[in-house]
Amino acid sequence: MQITLISKELSQTRSDLSAVEAYPFGELVDIIKDVGFECSRCTRCCTRDYNDHVFLLENDVERIEMVDSSKITPAPYFDYCDNKGNFYVQGYALTYKDDGTCAFLGEDDLCAIYTQRPAICSIYPYMLNREPNSRGKLLWRYVAGLNEHGYYHCEMTEKDAMQIAKDVLEYETGFLQHRIDFLTTLLSYFRENKLKPSQRQYERQMKKYNSGKEIVVNVYHCGQFHTHHLAYKN
Ligand code: SF4
Repeated sequence: MQITLISKELSQTRSDLSAVEAYPFGELVDIIKDVGFECSRCTRCCTRDYNDHVFLLENDVERIEMVDSSKITPAPYFDYCDNKGNFYVQGYALTYKDDGTCAFLGEDDLCAIYTQRPAICSIYPYMLNREPNSRGKLLWRYVAGLNEHGYYHCEMTEKDAMQIAKDVLEYETGFLQHRIDFLTTLLSYFRENKLKPSQRQYERQMKKYNSGKEIVVNVYHCGQFHTHHLAYKN
């Protein structure tokens, strides 16, 4: 695997960011009003089975660290592995309890950090799907699927829909800018240290990790990599 792979991904992410920034605001507001999601408090969206993991933007990490830093972990699905066997991932995520529910889901089935919850939780389920349709436009995805949980097509005021649209664009651009910063830093780091991405090492180290052995994961946060030694927990 060549270092140009990272450059290609960086250039694609920059295009994605431009596309999100160009998304017509009024159209976004109309889609949000049409989706009209309302939470039914079933808590399914706060489980690993439903949403895999809760990725944290840097502001989320700073805020949640003040509450309980033990519930923050390197995000899964490491992005790259270098030829020496060290992984790199773009940020942190929340941990889950043994039953697969979010570490912050209380026994009363309410979010214990509701006012400080991660940005992704506050815009859920309004996330942009960055795959273009046949006309090259960005599409929406219904993360949890229509009628699978919560209520859809509920009444929503223009003001509320506009606020959600603003929050969604802020989240999506924040996420993409973070990925651009991560890839730019990774590229410089690889060049300075004469490293290159290695798929073979990636697979070898994942096998090691899945068999319970410790691996090294460098997590991008606030402009630099933070090294963690991780052992797989089932
Ligand atoms: S932080 Fe709160 S809203 Fe977000 S997944 Fe966890 S319990 Fe649910």
